[in-house]
Amino acid sequence: CACTGSAGVSNLGIIGAGPAGLLLALLRARRGDQVQVFERRGDPRRGSAEAGRSINLALAARGLRALRAADVLDALNDQLVPMRGRQLHAPDGAQQFAAYGQGDHEYIWSVSRSLLTQRLTDVAAATPGITLHFNHRCDGLDEAGLPVLRDPQNKLLSTPMVSRWVATDGAGSQVRQALRARGLTQVSEEFIEHDYKELDIPPGTALRREALHIWPRGGFMLIALPNADGSFTATLFLAREGSTSFATLRDESSILAFFAAEFADVTPLIPALAQQFIAHPQGRLGTVLTTTWNSGEHLVLIGDAAHAIVPFHGQGMNCAFEDCRILDELLSDGLPGPYARFAALRKPDADAIAQMALENHAEMSDSVRSPRFQLQRQLALEWEKRLPGRFIPRYSMVMFHDEIRYSVALQRGHIQQQLLEQMTQPDAQGVLPALDDINWPVWQERVLASLAPL
Ligand code: FAD
Repeated sequence: CACTGSAGVSNLGIIGAGPAGLLLALLRARRGDQVQVFERRGDPRRGSAEAGRSINLALAARGLRALRAADVLDALNDQLVPMRGRQLHAPDGAQQFAAYGQGDHEYIWSVSRSLLTQRLTDVAAATPGITLHFNHRCDGLDEAGLPVLRDPQNKLLSTPMVSRWVATDGAGSQVRQALRARGLTQVSEEFIEHDYKELDIPPGTALRREALHIWPRGGFMLIALPNADGSFTATLFLAREGSTSFATLRDESSILAFFAAEFADVTPLIPALAQQFIAHPQGRLGTVLTTTWNSGEHLVLIGDAAHAIVPFHGQGMNCAFEDCRILDELLSDGLPGPYARFAALRKPDADAIAQMALENHAEMSDSVRSPRFQLQRQLALEWEKRLPGRFIPRYSMVMFHDEIRYSVALQRGHIQQQLLEQMTQPDAQGVLPALDDINWPVWQERVLASLAPL
């Protein structure tokens, strides 16, 4: 096999060299572990990117913090494109920009998935203590609950001598399925009604570069994230079946008519639109909830393998990276039962971000267009200025505050949303209050009474 590094007795075996597997390997090698990583695909530096996966990803505070802990952020810096807010595109072509956070210091980044994986692989391959085995597939678990591995020739490997295993084999995790088959965990996998399809927008368009573009249309939406070369990757999120759905877009004329009617301003920016649409894969989206993530202290699921979520908060990878950082800390704190403690600590947070990601679907595709929603966004940012550390918009808690747990963001977010609903009640004529109409001192009392200091 074209493995990097050397085999032998190791502290840690990792199944899957996606973002989470690679980052965890790097974090553990820094602590002196000997780490073996088994990946079913070939070396991504030789161009074997997985088809049908998102081309670029939003990277935010939680992911950045974990990358920094592994000292790999510098290796990515030149490829990160800031996204300072949402650029909304109305059907008539009108555009509106809404900043994501306060001032010019709160924003997120767009990063290419393949480049991220390649650079993490590069650093891992050069790190003493890490051995990467590409084209090595895990086929489930043996009688002893240890991974069954096959080499590139599909031959069974004798089980490597490894003290602990971590499964980072993604949303379709074989390891999770094997745990379920043995009755060691319960799993729910719920697909949503919307699928997605990606389309390329080449460099040289007039699209504002440092923004996440959204064409919200109620039941469906198009988004576009910038790439480092000036191009954008657009993603259509649309129902699988129904009157307006992927099922109705089967030929060139229906595809072109749909885009011309719904996304007139961006349609000319997508070359060979119908051909791209027909050629590119249609992906499914869903939430995976797993009741038990660990099998004693010899195996644990992390990242998408434990808790895949829908992509509408841009947090799946960020959450997986946060898993890596926290697991690394627990493995090194000298206390017993790191896997059991990890699962107990992280499960409420993974459940919370799964819920917030689903809620954000409605926000991105629909609510962002509503004047009341926009007023609430302004108000939330204003409260944050007036009461820092007390009222922080939920989006900001999730994206910019790596010290706030997802479960806390969910819980405080609900309280804040109730307050914002009350503050933005329309009058009898249906007219919304203006920011100047808000009775700040009165509402401040209620905000302070409702939200404990963070
Ligand atoms: P994966 O990335 O799935 O990696 C798993 C690895 O394991 C792969 O390399 C795979 O080949 C390997 N593997 C699988 N099975 C086996 C096996 N049996 N044996 C050996 N190896 C195996 N997240 C964000 O944070 N921001 C975003 O903006 C964002 N956008 C997204 C958009 C879309 C359309 C989608 C679908 C997802 C998006 N995500 C986003 C989520 C993000 O892609 C995932 O959360 C992230 O990739 C999870 O990383 P992982 O390492 O846990 O799993």
